[in-house]
Amino acid sequence: MRIACAAFAVLLAAVPALAQNVKITPIGSHKGELCANDRAIIFEDPTGVRFLYDPAHNVTGGNDPRLGAIHLVLLSHMHGDHVGDLKLKAPGEGSCANSARVPAPNSTIAEVVAAKNAVAVTTRAMAGFVHNKVDAIHGSGAKPMDFCPTLSVNVPVPEACSSRIDLGGVFTARAQGAQQGVEFTTVYSSHVNDVAPSLLTKPQQDLLKADGAQLGYGPPIGFVVKFTNGLVAYLSSDTGVFGDMKTVISDYHKANLAVVNLGPNPGLFQSGAYAINDLLKPASVIFTHVNEAATEGGKLKPNTQTAALMKQVTAPAYLAISERTMEFDGKGKCVSGC
Ligand SMILES: [Zn+2]
Ligand SMILES: [Zn+2]
Repeated sequence: MRIACAAFAVLLAAVPALAQNVKITPIGSHKGELCANDRAIIFEDPTGVRFLYDPAHNVTGGNDPRLGAIHLVLLSHMHGDHVGDLKLKAPGEGSCANSARVPAPNSTIAEVVAAKNAVAVTTRAMAGFVHNKVDAIHGSGAKPMDFCPTLSVNVPVPEACSSRIDLGGVFTARAQGAQQGVEFTTVYSSHVNDVAPSLLTKPQQDLLKADGAQLGYGPPIGFVVKFTNGLVAYLSSDTGVFGDMKTVISDYHKANLAVVNLGPNPGLFQSGAYAINDLLKPASVIFTHVNEAATEGGKLKPNTQTAALMKQVTAPAYLAISERTMEFDGKGKCVSGC
């Protein structure tokens, strides 16, 4: 009896610990790899709030079976590889360096928001675009998509809506019956916010082309997400290094996990070690958006830019391997799946 009680006590001690982790599951083009076009990541709070960060070119559409329940979709900026001007033809098709994709004229974010009746968490400027595309999917006669009535919602919401915040704004989503919500703050991103031209109307495309111009939708954004177990994740989006990584994101928000986009344009292959080691100082790092086939057989290829940067980063750094679920505790430590 005493042994049984002791075993039960051990079990009781173990169960809440497991339940208090945030689950992080990247969904990319090739299962078990980190590929060139991979960006999309699913997060699940212990209370059950689930959201998708930048659908990108990584979903086959709003009903991609890998998505499951999605309560919110985060949109960082309007570049085609984030808002989703293309969608995945099928997981595993094409190569890891160049996944097979087909056009998504309504954008993958609108496809997911419409299919899941989700909240689009983004700036008001970008929400305007999402509203129009979701309305196009719903067809004429349907009630137009609008901002959510409040900055704090219970999920799932009854109908798709968007967050009505701008740079620095805070939006909260709470699971039914939960004591506490998941808090999303939009933060600066040292990047541009030009929309993929193919997502615009033909007259708009022609006007822009005549002047060699790009159409921007206000500032691009990153996110700080405060989960109910204490994990504070900084989702960098595409960004160069900037001073607020220390002041706002580390000192003020106390982010303990940094999910960092790499790739050649913002220069983080060069400045990433300084940004992470000296400014952000997280407990752990996840790398995505590497713009190269970073792995083969699930293992990091040594002759890649990603491998070169990993060597310089002092915190434990993990790759956003497609369809592998990592679990993080409230202190930013990976406790499973890394
Ligand atoms: Zn970009
Ligand atoms: Zn990008």
